[in-house]
Amino acid sequence: MICGDSASLVNSQRLKGIHLAIKSGMLAAETAFEALLSQKFDADQLGLYPERVENSWIKEELWPVRNFHQGFEDGFYTGMLNMALQQVTGGAGLIDPLHCEAGYERMQKLVSLSPTGDDRAHMLGAAKGDGKLTFDKLTDVYHSGTKHEEDQPSHLVVADLNICATTCRVEYGNPCERFCPASVYEMVEDPAIPGAKQLHINASNCVHCKTCDIADPYQIINWVPPEGGGGPNYDGM
Ligand code: SF4
Repeated sequence: MICGDSASLVNSQRLKGIHLAIKSGMLAAETAFEALLSQKFDADQLGLYPERVENSWIKEELWPVRNFHQGFEDGFYTGMLNMALQQVTGGAGLIDPLHCEAGYERMQKLVSLSPTGDDRAHMLGAAKGDGKLTFDKLTDVYHSGTKHEEDQPSHLVVADLNICATTCRVEYGNPCERFCPASVYEMVEDPAIPGAKQLHINASNCVHCKTCDIADPYQIINWVPPEGGGGPNYDGM
């Protein structure tokens, strides 16, 4: 039984999903409880879970916005037009379902950009902030109060470090160094090979946003939960 965000139970129009995660978790718990009482764990018994989701307000809320996010695939203005059509057609719009690509599939390779970045030059290099309202990444990590038990296996598992050092470096320029908001990923000099770089993972900086798991163009980063209690200090923010 897959619940919450793992089952894409997110209202992308309102950018809200915690209530859907709680509700789907409750429905899964009810189904599990009944399965335990009857000692039946087959598809018929556990199939009650998707049925319950379909018959709850989860479906009622999400069905009219099922194409909302995809509607903005080609930019803001097409998105606004799609959104208006979806509003008057109960979410169907002109095409139902609308096609959508994962963000990492749309990531452009370095060869498609000019060396100066052209109109996107301001996006090159590390973000520094103005030191008043916006800050560099490490200061932001400090403000988040993030901490982890250092003596634990890394909760960021990269399946093939060789791809980072070779293919990704050439094709995408190691975008993990950019999209991670906490400077977890760093390409550092490889002492064994002059001129080469290798990936260094500062796992204890991680603020648990899961961007890397989603945005990595090769899909080789796997975010797993760290040992209990680690992460940003939400209560103190
Ligand atoms: Fe960085 Fe977020 Fe991935 Fe943690 S989950 S390593 S903060 S991108």
